[in-house]
Amino acid sequence: MKNAERIWDLVDQRRADYQDLSDRIWGMPELCYNEHRSVAEHKAMLEKEGFRITEKVAGIPTAVMGEAGEGGPVIAILGEYDALPGLSQEADVTEQRPMPGDGYGHGCGHNLLGSASMLAAAAVKDWLAENGIPGRVRYYGCPAEEGGAAKAFMVREGAFADVDVAISWHPAAFAAVQEAISLANTRIDFTFKGRASHAAAAPQLGRSALDAVELMSVGVNYMREHMPSDARIHYAYLDAGGIAPNVVQAQAKVRYLIRARELPELTDLIARVKKIAEGAALMTECTVEHRVLSGVANLLGNAPMEKAMQAALDRLGPPPFDAADQARANDFQATMTAADIAAAWRKVGLTPKPGLGLTDQVVPADAKGAPMVGSTDVGDVSWVVPTVQARGATYAIGTPGHSWQLTAQGKLPAAHKGMVHVAKVMAATAVDTLRDPSIIARAKEDLAARTAVTPYQSPIPEGTEPPFGMSVSI
Ligand SMILES: [Zn+2]
Repeated sequence: MKNAERIWDLVDQRRADYQDLSDRIWGMPELCYNEHRSVAEHKAMLEKEGFRITEKVAGIPTAVMGEAGEGGPVIAILGEYDALPGLSQEADVTEQRPMPGDGYGHGCGHNLLGSASMLAAAAVKDWLAENGIPGRVRYYGCPAEEGGAAKAFMVREGAFADVDVAISWHPAAFAAVQEAISLANTRIDFTFKGRASHAAAAPQLGRSALDAVELMSVGVNYMREHMPSDARIHYAYLDAGGIAPNVVQAQAKVRYLIRARELPELTDLIARVKKIAEGAALMTECTVEHRVLSGVANLLGNAPMEKAMQAALDRLGPPPFDAADQARANDFQATMTAADIAAAWRKVGLTPKPGLGLTDQVVPADAKGAPMVGSTDVGDVSWVVPTVQARGATYAIGTPGHSWQLTAQGKLPAAHKGMVHVAKVMAATAVDTLRDPSIIARAKEDLAARTAVTPYQSPIPEGTEPPFGMSVSI
């Protein structure tokens, strides 16, 4: 029954090319807006498939879009290809063994993410042509999901303005429709400036920027008791003002990462953190400036699209993992803790099956999972276009996110099978939506209702450019 639907056949026909694409991207890990080789690979594949290509989407050099079909509704399938620092790892090895080089690695599986999304779009392209149905499918190659919020900038520039529905996915341990819960976030650098002086001979002349940063941290840490319990604030000192304790530090810089459940809560928290920064500057007679690096909205769900994707997933069934895949997954599980594995089951709300390496089922619609507390820039798309995401089962149950184990599993047969499987889920969702445009109408009504009270407001201030060419911590 696996290929009972023509669209799945169209996915299978090109699986080898896309597995190769994923493996090539795995082998050239690039970070945050520097994905030049990866986007070139994606562009070349779009050309080979005959998509109409738009380069540098929204003015971003490493974003690309391919479109096929004519007229009708526009279905966007979103992909990513950025990697992470510190997660270099040899493939298919069950101990931590970084590869020589810069230390980057595909520890979030975005090599698979982009390839599966383009695979789905290419199958839908052929399906449209075969059936003569009006409609367009687009593959959006989106860079810098990790720390760069590229999709939020793309939304701000109107890249999705004429899109009717958006479909995406993320590598995971289970096959499911993704629960639409993530945190809105922003990254802001605060730079304090004071006055240098000899710390012993003329301390009265100095004004310490480092003191200001420390007082800001104290203030923010006192605020924690009085903020929403699911909000998160993290900070990192980027510049502590030098290494000489006998020089009063004239400049210091701290990066804040602020997360909240909803955009309005985030806006409130940002205002409070800024007040604390100004208070710290006032106390120390320093000045403070801030620069917003990125921001993403929380994810909005979309019931009609989730229903359509769940139906496609239920028809398709679980990924076809075999005994060898299961055995290799068990080898990787031996490197994890029991808590890692228990947390993975809890996340999707399923009863654990002891000893199971890879999932053997589809997560049912009524499973009650524990919410995700990370953030994704798909959130911004979900505020302006009805959006649905799948979880694609590509790695062993219990594999921690952003881990060497995840990088190591990125080219295994199970990863390839999971990638093709989720491409079928996305392609079938797109096809069902094209066949029955009433799904789009209901999806738009659903989005309008969710944003009626609080319309979308970009978390990125006007005039802020994407942080090209700078390192953005994850
Ligand atoms: Zn990711």
